[in-house]
Amino acid sequence: MVRGVPLKVIVVGAGIAGLTLAWALSRRGHAVSVYEQGPIPNPIASSFDEHRTTRHAYGSMTGYANLMPKAFQIWETLFRDLGRRHYEPVGIVYFMRGGTPWLEPSLASLNQLAVPYKEVPIADVPGRFPMINPEGLTHVLETEGAGMLFPNRIMSDLIVLLSQRGVGLHAYSKVDSVDPDRATITVGGETIGADVVAVTAGPWVDRLIPMLKRMVTPSRQAVAYLAPPPELAEAWSRAPVIADLSEESRCYALPPRFGTRMKVGNHNFTREGDPDAPRLASDDDLEPVRRSVRRAFLGFERYAELERKACYYTVEDKEQFVVRPIGASGWVVSACSGHGFKLQPLITDGLARAIVGECDADTVTGWAAGRSNVDLGEVTR
Ligand SMILES: Cc1cc2nc3c(=O)[nH]c(=O)nc-3n(C[C@H](O)[C@H](O)[C@H](O)COP(=O)(O)OP(=O)(O)OC[C@H]3O[C@@H](n4cnc5c(N)ncnc54)[C@H](O)[C@@H]3O)c2cc1C
Repeated sequence: MVRGVPLKVIVVGAGIAGLTLAWALSRRGHAVSVYEQGPIPNPIASSFDEHRTTRHAYGSMTGYANLMPKAFQIWETLFRDLGRRHYEPVGIVYFMRGGTPWLEPSLASLNQLAVPYKEVPIADVPGRFPMINPEGLTHVLETEGAGMLFPNRIMSDLIVLLSQRGVGLHAYSKVDSVDPDRATITVGGETIGADVVAVTAGPWVDRLIPMLKRMVTPSRQAVAYLAPPPELAEAWSRAPVIADLSEESRCYALPPRFGTRMKVGNHNFTREGDPDAPRLASDDDLEPVRRSVRRAFLGFERYAELERKACYYTVEDKEQFVVRPIGASGWVVSACSGHGFKLQPLITDGLARAIVGECDADTVTGWAAGRSNVDLGEVTR
């Protein structure tokens, strides 16, 4: 609250960024209205899925590794508000084939953050992980402090909570333009005003805020949902998240556990595509994922494909969040690639602090970009 007066805030986009920003502001007593171009939640949003990985190891991106303990804390605050914990700490196992510059700084971060980890002897891999192709393995690292968040369940519960708190949820309300100086938006020819407007439009963000074109690129990423063959079903039913970090693979698999399907994808950004394009992944979209997964897993041809789809996220060159003031009364948020979900409630809590004047714009921009020398202090509880 600025001088005791609740702010009126318009949020554009009802993905995890928009919804958690609405949560952070409404729990501080501000009046929030969320405008979403499609249904809420929107199945074509980056945030819409059965599961997302969260973890502490971040390679050389130590700024983000250092934020992870606070990100875990704020998820717990959110789950307490929701009355349900949509997270399963299944752990993560990283499979490496040859040297990777990721390992050393990640181990340093895990040590610094006191996150338990251990090397898995390569001889144990066939017994413990019969789905993994052991060829060329040089390191296998198993860490705690990692697991699966369940985005669709989180967003459904958040939507109910926000509506109970009086947050305006406007589905099928595409924002055609934003005037960040006046804090107004136009929707279907109508101009709507507030004290602050925050644009959290995911891979569409550069359409509303053209200056973002220089910073982020929407990237079409294919994923497939699979049913493992019966002989591997038991192993998958107790599997952690699996990440194959070898250069030729760079793929991940989320296990079919806790009411979700198994999902595979890879970490190679396409940096192309239009988020309004059809979302059925073509064979061309899927081929790089299949190639990655075939290298990482044994007997990939025995898995049944249940669904394939193309999703979009934004890619920033250094894989940083963009949180910037725009005009006199606006903000824009863009999450970055594959770590936008796990950090989002923390980042939007920081943004809420800047919006209400608890910290300045430069501080929140640097902090959200993962600069290690900036700290916003304790997270909201
Ligand atoms: C395949 C895939 C795997 C991923 N894996 C992980 C992972 O394991 N861990 C992790 O942390 N992150 C992961 N991510 C990244 C993470 O999901 C995203 O960074 C995050 O969900 C982005 O959230 P957002 O709210 O910024 O964007 P979105 O969820 O896209 O939300 C933006 C919303 O704005 C709406 N919108 C756009 N334009 C307008 C307009 N003009 N008017 C009104 N509404 C508008 C959209 O319809 C959309 O609902 C993954 C992403 C993908 C695609």
